[in-house]
Amino acid sequence: MRVLMIAAPGAGKGTQGERIAEHFAVPHIATGDLLRDHVARQTELGREVKQYLDSGDLVPDDVVLDMVREAMEAAKQDSGGYVLDGLPRTMKQARRLYETAVELEMTATAALHLEVGEDELLRRLLARADHEQRSDDSEDVIRRRLTLYREVTEPILDWYDERGILVSVAADRPVDDVTREVLGALDVLASAADQIPEGGRRSVDLTGLHAAFGAAR
Ligand code: ADP
Repeated sequence: MRVLMIAAPGAGKGTQGERIAEHFAVPHIATGDLLRDHVARQTELGREVKQYLDSGDLVPDDVVLDMVREAMEAAKQDSGGYVLDGLPRTMKQARRLYETAVELEMTATAALHLEVGEDELLRRLLARADHEQRSDDSEDVIRRRLTLYREVTEPILDWYDERGILVSVAADRPVDDVTREVLGALDVLASAADQIPEGGRRSVDLTGLHAAFGAAR
């Protein structure tokens, strides 16, 4: 099982991502967690990305893509599956991730979208800010992250929809209900994917991606 999670900040990617990873016994690769860990350990990469995290801006594509490629290579040595949480966030990341996945023969089985309305997202993020010490949970930074999500990340969903791997789940419900629906949908996809050889999913035309969203991103 290879899942990409695409959802707004506060939609529950972290919680659901961990549960999906456990269910399918694959690694949960969460870009935000990996980046925060680098910052905490004050690695060179951590020092480079701290300002982006603190302001709610996106870290440069090359930084996250290199980091994720490494994690995917490690996953390939293991079961070959993954739950990727937090990437792709831009069109360029979607394109480059796809190229890497084709190269590693690890293209995604599903792109999972957790749907939550703006008001509920804001409520959850502000509530989390009260009991977690994340440097990016102040109200103005939260609003910046939500805006970036709507403008830059959400449009990517169309491409996964066209590829036929998009799974959208209403996630403004109790956590366990969301998990049940997500795992149910992914189980169905997993058995369908078994019938399709890896090569059969490989011939996606990337020019459509350029045309739909512009080559600049
Ligand atoms: P959330 O989705 O709640 O904002 P994350 O933990 O996924 O939280 O991400 C936190 C921060 O990490 C982002 O605001 C951004 O600065 C950085 N980040 C995570 N993933 C990426 C990515 N794929 N590209 C660029 N920056 C990223």
